[in-house]
Amino acid sequence: MALVSADSHRHHDPGMLSVEEALERILGHFQALEPEEKPILDAQGQTLAENVTSSLDVPPWPNSAMDGYAVRAQDVAHAGPESPVVLNVIGTVAAGQSPRGSVGPGTAIRIMTGAPVPPGANAVVPFEQTDEIQRRVEGRGLDHIGVLTAAPAGANVRPAGEDIRRGEVALRRGAVLRPAEIGVLAALGRRTVRVVRRPVVGVLSTGDELLRPGRPLKAGKIYDANSYSVAAAVARYGGIPKPLGIARDNLPDLHRKLDHALAADMLITSAGVSKGDYDIVKEALVQRGRVSFWSVRMRPGKPVAFGTLAAPDGRQVPHMGLPGNPVSALVVFELFSRPAILKMLGRISWEKPSVEAALEGPIRNSDGRRVYARVQVTRRDGRYHAQPAGPQGSNILTSLARCNGLAICPEEVPHLEAGQPVRVLMLDWPEEVQGYCG
Ligand code: AMP
Ligand code: MG
Repeated sequence: MALVSADSHRHHDPGMLSVEEALERILGHFQALEPEEKPILDAQGQTLAENVTSSLDVPPWPNSAMDGYAVRAQDVAHAGPESPVVLNVIGTVAAGQSPRGSVGPGTAIRIMTGAPVPPGANAVVPFEQTDEIQRRVEGRGLDHIGVLTAAPAGANVRPAGEDIRRGEVALRRGAVLRPAEIGVLAALGRRTVRVVRRPVVGVLSTGDELLRPGRPLKAGKIYDANSYSVAAAVARYGGIPKPLGIARDNLPDLHRKLDHALAADMLITSAGVSKGDYDIVKEALVQRGRVSFWSVRMRPGKPVAFGTLAAPDGRQVPHMGLPGNPVSALVVFELFSRPAILKMLGRISWEKPSVEAALEGPIRNSDGRRVYARVQVTRRDGRYHAQPAGPQGSNILTSLARCNGLAICPEEVPHLEAGQPVRVLMLDWPEEVQGYCG
């Protein structure tokens, strides 16, 4: 007797790919792009394509960590508030100056923060630990200074090479350039740096119903949201979007638009990939290379196309066909296109941060796919809470706009209820996207 479970969760299409399988297949077509030399400030977010070896010590010479007096530690070893050691002040050195003279026995040089410590001196006594103020008040002049405390050798002196030594690898190949790394490059005197270049990503919408924003609305038409959301997502993750406009649902127009994609490193189209769709997209792609249409066991976003287009220069340009519904398009982008862009950028990890949160409303999973539910995560009482961000239809783009994370309901779980713990893939952190409205 055949035991057929009524549970639809057991009945997923065996031809469906898991999210992980689809990602693995896709990433197999991408590799880090070639390096380029760029001004350091233009390279933020890019990956270092060289080991950055320092040609100098940073700091280049010992310098003062305080405003005070450069002294010989041995001269002030017995100084105290009741027994000041009086030194002969032979000069002043400010940041940017080179000290004139050296500190011999019984002498000191007035020194500012960042100024080179003069030869002979091995410690700096801060102003507050001298009688400088008292001398000023009494109008005594500063040709002598009383030191009120002992300073061990090295006190308030930053040694040469304390941060970076000459010959040392200061930044390694593969590092992602953030403000701190860009600062390190500048501190080394570098004006340009070798980084993995950014991928150019062609973005094409398809559909007879689409209108470019700014045009008057006509019967039966809708504005093209995906060209813009996808191009913004490409830019957000470090790619250079190349908008290709809208291809109509006919072969000549599609081919014309695809021609413009062949100079890119990757093409992302949206719509025209679902079963029973007007199959123009499929036909055009098949004529130009290889393409497979996948059902990925996820919601939103089941239909996904992936293939390659043959470029005239012999390259195979990877193509990702996102679903047409605007939420599906962006969620599929997050899961598959974003990692591909990051891999081309030379990154070796592309996992989004995730948190465990207490769910504040139900998530339904009707057909055994992995559900990515739009939720707004907040932190209260030391815990994360995930509030479903409104209707979850794959056409409801505003609920994506109202969310900061995607709560995951696994394939085999038919529903999650309020109060249950849930894993949330964070798209943003709350503090990153809070605006001021006054
Ligand atoms: P399709 O995959 O062509 O069947 O499209 C699925 C749904 O997404 C349809 O309702 C389309 O009108 C809609 N859609 C497709 N492309 C876009 C787009 N660029 N912007 C907004 N909605 C779109
Ligand atoms: Mg369509």
